[in-house]
Amino acid sequence: MTVIDIDGPDKRRKTAPATAAQPAEKPTLIGLDRDDLAQALSRIGVPERQLRMRVAQLWHWMYVRGVSDFSDMRNVSKDLRAQLDEAFTIARPEIVSEQISNDGTRKWLFRFPPRGAGRPVEIETVYIPEEGRGTLCVSSQVGCTLTCSFCHTGTQRLVRNLTAEEILSQILIARDRLGDFPRGETPADAAVPSEGRLVTNIVMMGMGEPLYNFDNVKKALLIASDGDGLSLSKRRITLSTSGIVPEIARTGAEIGCMLAISLHAVRDELRDELVPINKKWNIAALLDACRAYPGLNNARRITFEYVMLKGVNDSLADARKLVQLLRGIPAKINLIPFNPWPGSAHECSDWEQIEAFADVVNNAGYASPIRTPRGRDIFAACGQLKSESERMRARDRAALESAPAGQSA
Ligand code: SAH
Ligand code: SF4
Repeated sequence: MTVIDIDGPDKRRKTAPATAAQPAEKPTLIGLDRDDLAQALSRIGVPERQLRMRVAQLWHWMYVRGVSDFSDMRNVSKDLRAQLDEAFTIARPEIVSEQISNDGTRKWLFRFPPRGAGRPVEIETVYIPEEGRGTLCVSSQVGCTLTCSFCHTGTQRLVRNLTAEEILSQILIARDRLGDFPRGETPADAAVPSEGRLVTNIVMMGMGEPLYNFDNVKKALLIASDGDGLSLSKRRITLSTSGIVPEIARTGAEIGCMLAISLHAVRDELRDELVPINKKWNIAALLDACRAYPGLNNARRITFEYVMLKGVNDSLADARKLVQLLRGIPAKINLIPFNPWPGSAHECSDWEQIEAFADVVNNAGYASPIRTPRGRDIFAACGQLKSESERMRARDRAALESAPAGQSA
């Protein structure tokens, strides 16, 4: 794998051992719920009366200890480990590259083996360390069917949905690379300690529209929040959607995570242009679905994301209309300075304009943090992810090398 360290050599970081590509022919056990896992074990002859206990053992090894090789499952008999290895895999995807921004943000490019007759696919995952928490930005699709005008991923056609395994694997391999799985002996039934973890939050804000891959996203997030495994609190898992209205109620009822809405415009004519899915479900329909979001209250607010595009959606009249539209919805407003990418047609609003916009929103009683751009120097910031081909990567890298110093401010 390539390690590209933008900030010069990092003495504390070791180059990762090359991870073996996962053999495509063996089915994976990662991403199966307990019932499916029991069925898989049953298929290789694990007796019915042992199934519950074996499922619990495997679950612990895979999701608490983070092992990626059956031979490390020490309380599983040697014979069964061999049988498991014969029939299944729990290997990680290949790490194609790891980049570390000068602000500590990391971006990985992972390669997953072909599914059926398909080709291998590559996706990006980003880790953003902050004071007291670490957020992993997870992808749900390779590319996107939608074409939001300000988003780099939107220029990459949809290759395919990620499987539950591939969504979950992004969390597992990030924790491997960060050294975020417990080391040493822990009792077999101990859950992951919540203190001192590096990946504390998950945002489904990487490549793709998660609600166009609902079933796999749901499976992966239910495993990520399972209390006997990765045990991430659902309050620390946020799913961001461009506004796939029919799936919003299900997100609350069946996944129960926090919701973020990519609003970005307060008038339908403009939102039709910026977020074209608006032509199908307009602002009024979207906000109705938000008002009805299961579990919504002042302690569990919806985050509305608003990208700041110079001269397009950043007027103070827009800010006033925004607070008027959201009246009555327990909401936070996240102002995102536009992150440029090679060939993008938009410009980021001036800083004074973003602050003036934020003042209007704050004065109306909404928390409206301005999201500090993270990892722009490695194209890891919101909307900069893309993994189309080697050619695209080479082009991005060339653009990055020629970018003026300080672009990441
Ligand atoms: N498809 C989902 C989630 C992925 S995008 C969605 O659209 O919500 C995550 C967030 O980044 C969204 O709010 C998206 O609108 C925003 N975004 C996309 N491109 C951006 C860019 N170039 N600069 C800043 N934010 C961007
Ligand atoms: Fe797809 Fe979200 Fe980008 Fe729109 S903003 S193109 S929905 S990834």
